[in-house]
Amino acid sequence: MLDAALLSIDGLSVAYDGSSALNGVSLQIRKGELICVVGANGAGKTSLIRSISGIVRSSSGTVKMNGVNITGLPPWEICERGIAQVAEGRQSFGSLSVEENLLLGGSLKRAKAYQFETLEFVYQLFERLRERRRQLAGTLSGGEQQMLAIGRAIMSKPEMVMFDEPSIGLSPALTDVMFGVVKSLHEQGITVLLVEQNVAKSLALSNRGYVLENGSIVLHGSSQELLNNSEIQRAYLGM
Ligand code: ATP
Repeated sequence: MLDAALLSIDGLSVAYDGSSALNGVSLQIRKGELICVVGANGAGKTSLIRSISGIVRSSSGTVKMNGVNITGLPPWEICERGIAQVAEGRQSFGSLSVEENLLLGGSLKRAKAYQFETLEFVYQLFERLRERRRQLAGTLSGGEQQMLAIGRAIMSKPEMVMFDEPSIGLSPALTDVMFGVVKSLHEQGITVLLVEQNVAKSLALSNRGYVLENGSIVLHGSSQELLNNSEIQRAYLGM
């Protein structure tokens, strides 16, 4: 157990129609850390993020933020407490403009007073979104939608951002841009939980990592330890 964990997850389980997706997952994230959870398709990565963000109900276990139990709170309340999610599949409002989507992200109580300042910050991070601020979100390219999803999360003035496979479906060049953005948000003091199939890149970026297999954490350690682990090298790094 870490001292002063920002987020502390204990024995978290999720099942869909009786079929188990997460089995008693425990992990801790300190304030200011960048940690990754890596695993293959279907390992339970998205279920972990969705159960933290309140989108999916856990069947047992607890999620605490700064020692306060937030298990089972509705998603908007979890956002108000400072946990934002960048979902896999992007999920913006397609019939609203880029800027309307961003302003919606900034409409939380915790963020409203900083809305226009944060909007400018997002546009500096992604000039492409500034150029396309009047365009309907549904007509953006995949990479632009991913920028918008990150922008919306930033607009909520989060203490922690959870990224669900930010590199999925992107070209290698755009993948590097997205990992660069994750790094720069972390450098600005935001705690990051990064969930990825891209094991090499996410371990290279993070302080610590957890390996999820069939809904259970099977290994955890510093990212360097995991990168040097022969099982990880064989199973995930093709070595
Ligand atoms: P991927 O990398 O392919 O996105 P993942 O590691 O994020 O996978 P999850 O999406 O959490 O894994 O899925 C874990 C398991 O739960 C899978 O077997 C999946 O089919 C199942 N599952 C996920 N969501 C649902 C749902 N809404 N209803 C039923 N089963 C689900």
